[in-house]
Amino acid sequence: MKKHNFSAGPCILPQEVFQKASEAVLNFNNDHLSILEISHRSKPFVAVMEKARSLALELLGLEGKGYKALFLQGGASTQFLMTAYNLLENKAAYLNTGTWSVKAIKEAKLFGDLVEVASSKDKNFTYIPKEYSIPADADYFHCTSNNTIFGTQIKHFPETEVPMVCDMSSDIFSRQLDFSKFDLIYAGAQKNMGPAGTTLVVIKEDILGKVSRTIPSMLDYKVHLGKDSMFNTPAVFPVYVSMLTLEWLKDFGGIAAIEKINEQKSALLYNEIDRNPLFKGIVATEDRSHMNATFTLTNDTLSETFDAMCKEAGINGLNGHRSVGGYRASMYNALPLESVQVLVDVMQALEHKA
Ligand SMILES: *Cc1c(COP(=O)(O)O)cnc(C)c1O
Repeated sequence: MKKHNFSAGPCILPQEVFQKASEAVLNFNNDHLSILEISHRSKPFVAVMEKARSLALELLGLEGKGYKALFLQGGASTQFLMTAYNLLENKAAYLNTGTWSVKAIKEAKLFGDLVEVASSKDKNFTYIPKEYSIPADADYFHCTSNNTIFGTQIKHFPETEVPMVCDMSSDIFSRQLDFSKFDLIYAGAQKNMGPAGTTLVVIKEDILGKVSRTIPSMLDYKVHLGKDSMFNTPAVFPVYVSMLTLEWLKDFGGIAAIEKINEQKSALLYNEIDRNPLFKGIVATEDRSHMNATFTLTNDTLSETFDAMCKEAGINGLNGHRSVGGYRASMYNALPLESVQVLVDVMQALEHKA
């Protein structure tokens, strides 16, 4: 039976990527060796790493602009501390839009003073704060572009002279932005780029080297840059699958082309949430995420019926995060429009039944 995978992460990837990845496990590069058993220093793998790094910059429109891409380990969670370790000398400014920001703030506090410029905690992170100012003497400003758990997304980033650091784990490569406004972008692969196990870090090199502390090698961006993302054994398979997904995206027409489909998908679902009296959205309309749509039933007694109908239709991964409840439909790049239509059909069928 065909499945419609709305999982928040790890998440759906293109079918052809799964196909090519599985072939490489058996016979990579037609060398009759698995990608899992060759040296990461071998020519074919070094080529994979270089391709993945250059495709990331190319798709973000950052080639030739002083940026480098790294594929590191430890998840986006390690970036919470690594960004502060490498950039925080005196004071940093953070925008608090939910669970992932809270975690980033907690780690950064270990390294210096922190100013929380604004927070949406007062309404359980159901909106994006808009009126705030960033202290001009901050070492950097950190924000989370898409709040995966609550389903909000920053539509307008602040104008500031302070270097901007952004956790884009759950919406990187999904929409067009002027990525050159950011000085450091990080993203765990498993939301919109590849399997769990690697994290993309895109750095404008000139922001490094400004802190006085000694940084352990594995946590030092300069060390990783100096070794072309091969300081230690990289996560070879996740990097390879990420490269395949980035190739798929490039062939698709890049971010501009996928953004159109992502807008169609989210419009289809949000229109139904707003039209259907049995459902309501959880977050402020203007801050709704195009990647993770959160909603609830207006009548809780229907949840068993709705869950059963979803299951029957092959829908997977629709449960809301345990801290929010309700439902969350994650519509990452590889999710086809057709899957969103199946969900909308089930929502309408529930309305007719109730
Ligand atoms: C999932 C997620 C993380 C955590 O990623 P890990 O790779 O599990 O450490 C951080 N930030 C955001 C926005 C996320 O969606």
